Amino acid sequence: MRYVTVKATKVPILGFGTWDVFGAEGRRTIEEALSQGYRHIDTAQMYGNENQVGAAIRSSRIDRSELFVVTKIDNANHGRAATRHSTEESLRRLRTDYIDLLLIHWPSRTVPLVGTLETMAALRREDKVRNLGVSNFTTTLLADAVEVCGADLLCNQVEYHPFLPQRRVRAAVARYGMMLTAYSPLAKGRAARDPVLNAIGKTYGKTASQVALCWLIGQDAVAAIPKASNREHMMDNLAALDFTLTAEDRAAIDRLGDLNGRVNDVPEWSPVWDKD
Ligand code: NAP
Repeated sequence: MRYVTVKATKVPILGFGTWDVFGAEGRRTIEEALSQGYRHIDTAQMYGNENQVGAAIRSSRIDRSELFVVTKIDNANHGRAATRHSTEESLRRLRTDYIDLLLIHWPSRTVPLVGTLETMAALRREDKVRNLGVSNFTTTLLADAVEVCGADLLCNQVEYHPFLPQRRVRAAVARYGMMLTAYSPLAKGRAARDPVLNAIGKTYGKTASQVALCWLIGQDAVAAIPKASNREHMMDNLAALDFTLTAEDRAAIDRLGDLNGRVNDVPEWSPVWDKD
């Protein structure tokens, strides 16, 4: 495994996404990912699967110190009391003493950011959480968190793949010395069908999905968390660690960003995204 190192924290550069991974089948999927070598697991209170993640971690017998467990505060749990209570519930469901990275899943339009962030910082002082971050934060929201609230954040997790350049968010994250975690890094399967990524992949003996992941993790302070329920997909995605792209191929992939293709539905609580 390779790592992103930011603010003295080592984060496995390829993680395993668990959205839509449920129940006994979901637990087996996470167990398989751990047995293949994934050490960074991305879950969320909203996914309703922290129990399965906790059970899979427990049965894997992998030393806790080797794992990087990420969860996210649900939209209903912003504010001081709910942030504390829900994080303690996450710890119980995940069967762990600490969360490696606790994120605010989505910004709130109604609950002031400061109470949530200060409670997260208190949980970090108590060693229940090791690192703090946000998800789906625009450049304005990031500035509010860092400059207004003085938050010390490790990460902003946002949709990022070859069809969505995220230039402004990437620049802001770099300005604050943070990392960016790319969610939906395979554009929910669209990468596998893209002719440019397929053509580049042929020259390396790699698939289009592996090319997309290699392009992402070849950037400074970027990690990616592909989700795969298929065992071969899981393995293929890890093999994105085995090669590097030429500058020419990277430039060809950069140009796909002009399509500006966000693949996730925009929920009603979504912020107004930065225009690249
Ligand atoms: P994704 O990882 O971009 O794509 C997942 C899809 O790609 C699945 O249909 C999967 O199929 C397929 N796939 C995986 N590997 C493949 C391969 N090597 N070749 C071909 N197809 C492949 O999408 P995602 O699940 O939206 O994003 C990943 C993770 O990011 C989520 O699971 C979640 O943890 C996180 N996320 C966070 C947020 C947020 O708001 N913070 C939002 C969305 C997602 P199979 O399952 O059949 O293998």
